[in-house]
Amino acid sequence: TKKNLIINVKFKNSIITGGAGFVGSNLVDRLVSIGHKVIVLDNFVSGKKSNLSHHSKKNVKIIKIDISDKNLDKYFKKADYIFHLAALAQIIPSFKDPNKYFKNNVIGTLNVLKSAKKVKIKKLIYAASSSCYGAPKKFPTSEKDKIDLKHPYAATKFIGEELVMRYASKFKMPNISFRFFNVYGPRLNVSGQYSAVIGNFLSQTKTRKPLTVVGDGKQTRDFIHVDDLINAFIQVIKSKSVNKIYNLGSGKRTSINTIAKIFGGKKKFIPIRPGEPKNSVANIKKIKKEINWKPKISIEQGIKKLLSN
Ligand code: UDP
Repeated sequence: TKKNLIINVKFKNSIITGGAGFVGSNLVDRLVSIGHKVIVLDNFVSGKKSNLSHHSKKNVKIIKIDISDKNLDKYFKKADYIFHLAALAQIIPSFKDPNKYFKNNVIGTLNVLKSAKKVKIKKLIYAASSSCYGAPKKFPTSEKDKIDLKHPYAATKFIGEELVMRYASKFKMPNISFRFFNVYGPRLNVSGQYSAVIGNFLSQTKTRKPLTVVGDGKQTRDFIHVDDLINAFIQVIKSKSVNKIYNLGSGKRTSINTIAKIFGGKKKFIPIRPGEPKNSVANIKKIKKEINWKPKISIEQGIKKLLSN
């Protein structure tokens, strides 16, 4: 009936830290499309205003703030869902400035948890990293496999996850941690030397430069399209699952040479990056089973889609 319809159209309020970044802004788009009111908290260090410029103030409130040195209580008051994606995200730079990584990624997460704990949220989702597995011995790697923290970035993201899970058990918070594998898609950062391979290849293709392949290019990664990743976020907030850690990848391994081949064009081999794993691929049995999600976009489709934009 009409009355029921009106009652059902109650807005959900979502907070997204890091909402102006690559994954964050794609999540904002999806949440707005399903009727959420969104508050973005972002310090705009790597996030960009232009990633959100297509939204109206009515649906998306943008607040420039550093979550690691501010009390966040006032922003969380009406929150139904909190998506904590804000972080410094590059490996090599984390060796140079571990303090900065610790402040952003650990203290930042603690601030989010402290304020989230005071309100009755439906779910809090943390963006963790598959870098916690270091150079894994088992493939595909499951959530139960060994943790091996090889650099400050991995360490800070893992401590963040530990905090999220401890708050979940100690204070009965409805927290979820997703361990991201290699996410790609529209708005992927292309900030140079240390940015993600698909972002680099995309800008190199557009500027007709050779594709910079690290090492022999035979190393493999698990590439997941951001639309598939966002589907998992939507599925998990609909599910009853709480206090859980899930790998979030495609479950498929692809070599860098294969990625270069899909892009086409010339290759240029550049020196290997110290300490990076040779191979990485997610075991995604747990997430498939427990939240009824599966990846749908193949790497070929995903890259073709990027190239056609
Ligand atoms: N890589 C590459 N060319 C680039 C950037 C990265 O061959 O321009 C390689 C990199 O050495 C690694 C893989 O691609 O083996 C994935 O790197 P990325 O930085 O995208 O993610 P990571 O898995 O290191 O977090």
